[in-house]
Amino acid sequence: MITDEFLSKYEEILYKTERPSRYIGDEFGSYNKDFDKAQGKFLLAFPDKYEIGISNFGHKILYDIINKKENLMCDRLYAPDIDFINLLKEKNLGLYALESKKSPKNFDIVGFGLQYEMCYTTVLKMLEMSDIAIFSKDREENDPIILAGGPCTTNPKPMKDFIDIFAIGDGEELCIEIIEKYINLKGKMPRAQIIEELSKISGVYAPSVDNFAVKRIAQLTNENHPTNSPIPHFTSVQDRAVVELRRGCGRLCRFCQASHINLPIRERKKEDIVSLAKEYVKNTGYDEYSLLSLSSNDHGKIEEILGDLSCHFKNTGINVSLPSQRADRFSLNLASLASNERKATVTIAPEAGTDRMRNIINKNLSKEQIINATISCIKNGWNKIKYYFVIGLPFETYEDLEGIPKLIEEVNASCRENGLKYPQITCSISVFVPKPHTPFQWARQNTIDEVNEKIKYLRELKEKIKNVKFNFHNPKMSQLEAFYSRGDERLSDFIFELYQNGAYLESWDENLNLDLYSQIAQKLNLDIEKLASKEFQKDENLPWEKINYGVNKTWLWQEYEKAKDAIATIPCEVKCNNCGVCSNLKTKKILDV
Ligand code: SF4
Repeated sequence: MITDEFLSKYEEILYKTERPSRYIGDEFGSYNKDFDKAQGKFLLAFPDKYEIGISNFGHKILYDIINKKENLMCDRLYAPDIDFINLLKEKNLGLYALESKKSPKNFDIVGFGLQYEMCYTTVLKMLEMSDIAIFSKDREENDPIILAGGPCTTNPKPMKDFIDIFAIGDGEELCIEIIEKYINLKGKMPRAQIIEELSKISGVYAPSVDNFAVKRIAQLTNENHPTNSPIPHFTSVQDRAVVELRRGCGRLCRFCQASHINLPIRERKKEDIVSLAKEYVKNTGYDEYSLLSLSSNDHGKIEEILGDLSCHFKNTGINVSLPSQRADRFSLNLASLASNERKATVTIAPEAGTDRMRNIINKNLSKEQIINATISCIKNGWNKIKYYFVIGLPFETYEDLEGIPKLIEEVNASCRENGLKYPQITCSISVFVPKPHTPFQWARQNTIDEVNEKIKYLRELKEKIKNVKFNFHNPKMSQLEAFYSRGDERLSDFIFELYQNGAYLESWDENLNLDLYSQIAQKLNLDIEKLASKEFQKDENLPWEKINYGVNKTWLWQEYEKAKDAIATIPCEVKCNNCGVCSNLKTKKILDV
């Protein structure tokens, strides 16, 4: 709530900052619970800008679940943009939670969502601006517990000096368990001992204890799905209602971390999805809703779901968006159900240029399926197609690269045959980053010279095709992601040095200072390229051995071996591949059949 006390301190700088609406809270749909009355106070901290954080679905889930508990309150904190950080410093003011306007230091737990490695230095700056010691070892008895969750906890080593506890896996039940246990222990024992006790909760890893941690799994229920969320004062990145169709993906693409760490598949029932979407749209007033999943059209009843929803929202101007679709299941019927109101860009992810390469990565998608899906979309009125590709994948050849422009030429040829206008095609091309807990966790990343050579080659081939645009992800950024994602404890010093030298909001290209990286690497005697392009050996101890996502290491290695021979693995939806998750975590896949 905006009080006179708050305004007396912050009003002047709010007038001066570029976007004050990022920092005032009180959005429609926010809980604004009473700070003083809550027994447990949790602060969700997002180490990126407001418009990114407020769109994050995991953030919305936890915010809702914690606030639904009568004795708890959950507030939010996003990383201020650089102009606001400077204004705060000028006035000697600290960060404050968006709703209660309290200092993060006053909370019981501050939970950072680590979505992306390039946000690590931002976490340190947010701690400094909250007057909380950067290093866990320096924190005082009354300091909040600093927690981290999200995909980067797959390898906690780089951030181990700064985070008290890591929450591994689904946070829905885990977060509540952590806060409840903390409330019971607070004041009864020293902080270090509380952290040790918290590490005994299944799914918690504490660097000070260095325990083994097994990921937590949550079942998808209506109670743990939000049907309302704070509506930003200005347009954010994903400004729409969201319904999670399913968690986990059984396709098991060998480079894809999300697929492997979110197993087993848990599919929400059709009736629940339909009622959640109606409720979310009604509560928020959004004119768009998204059906979220790693692969939306893999849901067994996707056509029925879209049919029911498009019927319900007919003539209302409310549109559906399917963020991620499989080309092999993109039927004409599905295309028209998803396009009842307006034709936006349709996104297809071939990932690689040839069938051989798609077998290596286990994409299980043929060239014909990609072309057929594209033509179906064009026939249905889409004229903007976006393809996702990854280059620098293990065992890739220049023929595989050549397959990318060839595929587009074949789409164009098929358009001519069908009497269709050429679509506008955008290829978003990223560089392979080896990720922990995937079959490619051992693989090397291409060096910058190798990647640049490949980019040059693709640009030359593209010149001949007029209706396509290639957007390449910054190769240096991908190299840093690989450096961090498979890094060991030495990276804590590296991150600290970066932070001390002003690194902040580095996922934004304009803030990334590559010279600083080179200087610090030299000072600490770390070779970034060598570490990013290192190939781990089969029996080598991996930095993330203490973290168990349920998938057997031997199974991951077998998949890596199969990749060498371009042998595909059948999707988990069709047949269990004994990856280990269901037996190790005593769980099972849930399909809405
Ligand atoms: S054990 Fe079988 S069913 Fe379970 S996630 Fe792995 S492949 Fe799927």
